[in-house]
Amino acid sequence: MKILLLGPPGGGKGTQSKFLMSKFNIPQISTGDMLRSHVKNDTILGQKAKKYMEKGELVTDSLILEMMEVRFKEKDCINGFILDGFPRTIKQAEGLDNLFKKSNQKLNHVIVIDVEDDEIVSRMSGRRVHPESGRVYHIKYNPPIDEGKDDITNEPLIIRDDDKEETVRNRLLVYHNQTKPLIDYYNKNVITINGSQSIEKVKSNIIESIN
Ligand code: AMP
Repeated sequence: MKILLLGPPGGGKGTQSKFLMSKFNIPQISTGDMLRSHVKNDTILGQKAKKYMEKGELVTDSLILEMMEVRFKEKDCINGFILDGFPRTIKQAEGLDNLFKKSNQKLNHVIVIDVEDDEIVSRMSGRRVHPESGRVYHIKYNPPIDEGKDDITNEPLIIRDDDKEETVRNRLLVYHNQTKPLIDYYNKNVITINGSQSIEKVKSNIIESIN
C-alpha cells in the first residue's frame, strides 16, 4: 500500500503517519526527517540542504529526487510506504511518477490533512520533537507521558528551529505557492480530511477513507 499524505507543515502528517505505520506495517518516509539526519551527520547533501531548511524554503527538486530514488530501493519499501513531506512541488510529483513508471508502481491513496494557517501557527508554538526518532509531541494536544521527555527513550524533547513563528509563516507561504497545486495535480484521487479535529478523529477519518 502506498499512501501520500499532503497538507501544511504542522498539520499532523507526522503524527498520523506514525499510526498508519503500525496499522499497515509499512515505513513512513519523511523527507524532512531524512534531511535533518543528513544535516546532523554533516553529509554533503546535508550541507547543501541546510541553508534552505533554516529559512523554511524548499531544498532543490533534483536533490530530493536523487535522495528518494535511493530510498525507494531499500528493502523495507517492498510492501509500500507512507510519504510524508514528499512530493512538495509539481516537479517532484512528476519525478515520482517517473520513478514509479520505471517499476510499475502507483500511489493507492492521496490524503490531504487540511488545517487553517492561524491554527497551524498556534499549534507550532507547542510542538516538541525527539530529534533522534522524529517522534512529534504537542504540549497540549499530544503530550508526552513525562513532561519534556520522549515516551520511548526518556531523552529530552526539543523545539525545532524551523518551528519558530517567522519561519512557520514562510513555510506556510511556500506550502500555498508550491505544494497546494499538487491537490489539483492528483485531482480525482484526493481525499480531504478536516485536520482541525482531534487527533483520534483525524485518524479514524483517514482509516475510513482508506478502507
Ligand atoms: P518537514 O519536516 O517535512 O516540514 O521539512 C522540513 C524542511 O525540510 C522543509 O521546510 C524544507 O526546507 C525541507 N524539505 C523537506 N521535504 C522537502 C521536499 N520534499 N522538498 C523540498 N524541501 C523539503
